[in-house]
Amino acid sequence: MSAEKDLFLSFLRAGGKRVTAERLAVFDEIFSRHGHPDADGIYRSLLARAVPIGRATVYRNLELLVDCGLVRKYRLGRRRFLYEHIHPGQQHDHLVCRDCGQVTEFVSPGIRALQREICRAHGFVPDDHTLQISGLCDVCAGRPPAARPADGEAAHAS
Ligand SMILES: [Zn+2]
Ligand SMILES: [Zn+2]
Ligand SMILES: [Zn+2]
Repeated sequence: MSAEKDLFLSFLRAGGKRVTAERLAVFDEIFSRHGHPDADGIYRSLLARAVPIGRATVYRNLELLVDCGLVRKYRLGRRRFLYEHIHPGQQHDHLVCRDCGQVTEFVSPGIRALQREICRAHGFVPDDHTLQISGLCDVCAGRPPAARPADGEAAHAS
């Protein structure tokens, strides 16, 4: 069993919550690959794997994983949220295309150093940070509007 699953199970036990098949299915789905899905994407993947689960249950259990500290939730635009599983000790930041939704991860030692310096100057002890740059990816920025795919759903995501 993974250390993450161990953590999740102790979190459920400590909170007096039952270990249900649905909870484990949502956990397995978000930890099955590294990505930035939205709740609906996770719901659809579970359906595609014939896991019997309702949309509301998926949403609730994602929030549970966020509370547990194993999953992070990002706001993308006004009404959309993305989720990703966390690798303890490994931080990265995101570039998010507001047109196609593509999410690119980057790590910048310079930004890290600057954050440490700012915290030191304020006598602040950091335990978390979020940096998200939104805008247009190279494809969306370079392509004329008429040539874009109609449904705008990460058509060129890797
Ligand atoms: Zn990962
Ligand atoms: Zn784009
Ligand atoms: Zn990420």
